[in-house]
Amino acid sequence: MNTAGKMTKLAEFTYEVPTIEKGYANQTLYVNVGTGEIKSKPVTREMKDLFVGGRGFDLWLLWHAFPLDEKIDWDSPENEICISSGPLGGTTNFPGSGKSIVACISPLTHMPIDSNVGGYFGPYLKFAGWDALEIQGKAPQDVVIFIDGDQGLVQILDIPGLPDDSHLLARELTDLFAGDNPKAVSVVSAGSGADHSYFGCLNFSWYDPQRKAVRYKQAGRGGTGTVFRDKKVKALVVKYTGVNPTSNNPADPELLKKIGMKHTREILELDPKQNRMAVVGTTHLVPIMNDYDLLPTNNYRYGSHPHAQNIGETTYEEMFDRGFDGCWRGCTVACSHLIKNFTLQTGPYRGQTVYVDGPEYETIAGCGSNCGIFDPEHIAEMNFYCDTYGLDTISVGTATAFVMELYEMGLIDDDLTGGLELTFGNREAALELLHQMAQGRGFGRHVGRGIRYLKQYLAEKGVDPRIMQDIGMEAKGLEYSEYMTKESLAQQGGYGLALKGPQHDEAWLIFLDMVHGYLPTFEKKAEALHWFPMWRTWFGLNGLCKLPWNDIVPEDNEQTEEPAKVMEHVRNYAVFFTAVTGREVEPDDLIEMSERVYNFQRVFNLRMGYGTREHDAVPYRSMGPVTPDEYQSRQERYDGQLRELGVDITDMGTEEKLALLRRHREEQYEKLMDAVYKRRGWTRNGVPTVEHLRHLGIDFEDVVSVVKAHQ
Ligand code: SF4
Repeated sequence: MNTAGKMTKLAEFTYEVPTIEKGYANQTLYVNVGTGEIKSKPVTREMKDLFVGGRGFDLWLLWHAFPLDEKIDWDSPENEICISSGPLGGTTNFPGSGKSIVACISPLTHMPIDSNVGGYFGPYLKFAGWDALEIQGKAPQDVVIFIDGDQGLVQILDIPGLPDDSHLLARELTDLFAGDNPKAVSVVSAGSGADHSYFGCLNFSWYDPQRKAVRYKQAGRGGTGTVFRDKKVKALVVKYTGVNPTSNNPADPELLKKIGMKHTREILELDPKQNRMAVVGTTHLVPIMNDYDLLPTNNYRYGSHPHAQNIGETTYEEMFDRGFDGCWRGCTVACSHLIKNFTLQTGPYRGQTVYVDGPEYETIAGCGSNCGIFDPEHIAEMNFYCDTYGLDTISVGTATAFVMELYEMGLIDDDLTGGLELTFGNREAALELLHQMAQGRGFGRHVGRGIRYLKQYLAEKGVDPRIMQDIGMEAKGLEYSEYMTKESLAQQGGYGLALKGPQHDEAWLIFLDMVHGYLPTFEKKAEALHWFPMWRTWFGLNGLCKLPWNDIVPEDNEQTEEPAKVMEHVRNYAVFFTAVTGREVEPDDLIEMSERVYNFQRVFNLRMGYGTREHDAVPYRSMGPVTPDEYQSRQERYDGQLRELGVDITDMGTEEKLALLRRHREEQYEKLMDAVYKRRGWTRNGVPTVEHLRHLGIDFEDVVSVVKAHQ
């Protein structure tokens, strides 16, 4: 049922839709929802050479959005929502090529956040004529931005009566703007929860013709949806008809076809033998993580649980509706599954039957095992509500697990929680807390502002700040994503040294370190913490998904020199880049492209008042056991490690052993930081040197001045 009233045009801009040249539209779109200004900006050769696209363009535009000497925060009108795909984004004959990257100053970290998301918006935006979109200002009332790539038209619209939550809003706007072709429209929306929480995410839609449904994927991390709603943007709508395999106008269409077919065929042949992602998505990770003691359980206390199989791939394979589930055209990994006809038990839509997009591994671990909940239906309900409210399932799950542990420890009580019994495993309490976060009421109003805020809020209520520092799983203000890191020093660095905060898309080294034992020395760990974050950054520059790189690998991969890098696939990506852009590149060139943007982002963090060594600190729970319970649950392991260090533990109690282990592990983390900074060309304080910036070609006057202030 449509609820929209008569729409009013608040501002309009017309343009000639350009022909895409070798993956670029060669212009970006600026929209100020406060002043109504809409304009086109040129994409320079320098932007393409140095920042490539996607996350690189977003950061470049955001950097120039406000003067160097002006202090802004996430809710300043000057803050921007930037969205860009990248030169390879929108390719339909190479798997995983439809991603958008969102960046803004985050309400959780107060520095740039970047978030990589599927759905059709980014490719359609580019084909509509725009390599990136920047939205600045704050509108006086809710607005919809409509970009019509068929007509060459951009409008800011007032549309009264629209629903707030994404599952209704995305459908209604698709119906309103699509005419008889819903496949031609993609909607970006947040939801009512993003109005009240710092966990706001953005839903990027696409139309699923098989189910006649509007589906969506999330730019989850760091509060992009919160910024979006703070600007009073209700939704973005892009319309573009006529995507085809040469829409990017590639430099060498034959080469693109050849390399795309090679990678596609391999996935079709090997996925059924390897992870079966086309059937179970990323749920296959649940039993693997559980087997290796890496599945976060009860706020990262433990890494496995006897009931983990209840929420693993076997269960969800049965719950998922069978069909082709690519979040962009031509992605044969097709891992974006859904649960059809799910009946909700709680909240404002209780009793209604809906589609649930997901769950993925992170949601299962965050809203399930980490809260001590092993009920697949509960996780599906959390997934649905987080999405439609526009809330990040990872931050919601990790923050819920934190307050559950405080409650179990007796550090917070019913007076503080408003009567919610936040014990591990309490499904009703977890769901009620989520509804409170979304509606900005009760204890949930505080939890929805993030763990860093909670540490301060609860300390004022008398809770011991030291224990909260140890078990509150955030770094840089961002909640941890869902992997245990206690036994992997490399992954501790993977999280702690990540630019935006502890998110696994930058470095995922657990298996390399723990299972394969490939990283025995600090130098090897430092090398991995250089190469992998750079390589993973590259996907975000180009509008790509990283899953087709290493989730399905060539059959002879294990016999190669560096199996973790899956070099055959890296070489495919170099050919892919050349085929689209015409720039001749080798794998090392791809790493250097990322290194520029990566260092630029580090300097951006410095500019915002962060980005030094002290901000790369991590909570102790990510390094080792905090409580005697945790130590005793893996006593053999920890006792053995202390003996290997030459400690005589014969007469020691658990507290003493805990303290010794802690001292050792904290020293190791400090040494790791030294090694990684050195490898990255940074000072001991974690600041890129001017020489390094010069070597990378990003020694712009303003960039250098930020760095010099820290040397
Ligand atoms: S691999 Fe999965 S998440 Fe990545 S583009 Fe394909 S369907 Fe989307």
